[in-house]
This record gives sequence, C-alpha cells and structure tokens, in this order.
Amino acid sequence: MEWKGWKKVKYQAQLSPSFATDIAALPGGEKIFSCIQCGNCSALCPLSTYMEYSPRRIIGMIRAGFKGEVLTSYSTWLCASCFACTVECPKEIKITDIMYAVKQQAIREHVYKKRFAIPVLAREFYNQVLQYGRTTEGLLVLKEGMKTNPFGMIKFTSLGLRLLFTGRLSFKLERLKSLPGGKGDLNTIMKALDKPPVTNATGRVA
Ligand code: SF4
Ligand code: SF4
Repeated sequence: MEWKGWKKVKYQAQLSPSFATDIAALPGGEKIFSCIQCGNCSALCPLSTYMEYSPRRIIGMIRAGFKGEVLTSYSTWLCASCFACTVECPKEIKITDIMYAVKQQAIREHVYKKRFAIPVLAREFYNQVLQYGRTTEGLLVLKEGMKTNPFGMIKFTSLGLRLLFTGRLSFKLERLKSLPGGKGDLNTIMKALDKPPVTNATGRVA
C-alpha cells in the first residue's frame, strides 16, 4: 500500500500533543521516547510492506502527535505479534505492545475500520467472552461476516455447509455453566483489563 500522507499538509494545531504520553502510560509504551528511528523494526517486520505506516513510522507518528492517522490506519491491525521487532530493537522498545496499545485505543475511541475484519473479530470475540465466558466459533465467524462483508459470505456457503456436516463447525452456543463467584466476577476482570494501568512513584506499572 502506497503511503500518501506526504501529500497532505498537517498544521501543528491539528496534532495531538498528548497522544504520545497516553501511549507511553500504557504497558509496553514506557520507552517510546527513546526510539532513535534506526528502522531495525521495519526491516525485520514481515508485514511492514503491507502496512501504510511501517513500525518505525508508527513510533515516529505517535511521538509527533498524528493520533488520527495512527488510530485509523490498517497498519497496527496487520501486526501478527511475531515479536521480531521487539527482540531486535536496540533501545529495547516493546513495539509489539505498542501495537496492542494503539489497537485498544482505536477500539475505545470507536475509530477502527468498521468493515475491516480483524477489529470486528476482536470486538465480537471480546463480547462473547464477556457475555458467556467462552466463544462459539460458528457464531463468531457468522457475526464477523455479517458485519464486514455479508454478500461475500455467499461464496463460502458450500465450504461452511461441508464443515457443518462433518462436525468441524458448530453454531451451538458455548457458555460456562457456572462461573466461580457468578458472572459479576468476569465483568469485574474484563472492566479491569479495559482500565489504563496504575503506575507507582517510579513510573512503573503497579
Ligand atoms: S528498532 Fe527500536 S529504536 Fe529502531 S526505529 Fe524501531 S523502535 Fe525505534
Ligand atoms: S510484532 Fe508486529 S510489528 Fe513487530 S515485527 Fe511482528 S508483525 Fe511486525
């Protein structure tokens, strides 16, 4: 995908100066300001050629305050969590974690690509776990297809039926029969995961 951002003029007032500090406050984002823009991460990333903004560029754009461009891009959603960038970063920046932090922020602010399958799948997965304690693959695939490309699902009908009849796909709702402490406990855990982390006096995550 060709990057066309250079064609748009961006004024200082349109940037979000707090974006970098928001990301730096999330687990893994602490070292974002020590990036030296060496490009190791982008060179190693197996998916950077498919991204609008490479990992190095994502880090640079976060620090510069390009919040809108970063949160609405496809780049972070293409990250396969292979950790190659994180392992080889000379400044020990947890780039994979930063990719996760950006994705979480995009979901929280409802600015992810609405018809792009990966964030929709992540959202549906989360909702099913929150509601039932487990996921049902058939329903997950069906909901994701309906919300992203309903007409495109037609060509998968025969494959779906074969999987269904051979017992490889099920629409039977899976749920935890009983949750220790009741469903309220699960809600508490999920809500805690959604909250920004608490840091102690040294700036480390408590
Ligand atoms: S490898 Fe690390 S220091 Fe180099 S550009 Fe990527 S994040 Fe920055
Ligand atoms: S973890 Fe993500 S960003 Fe890093 S190299 Fe792998 S795919 Fe690329």
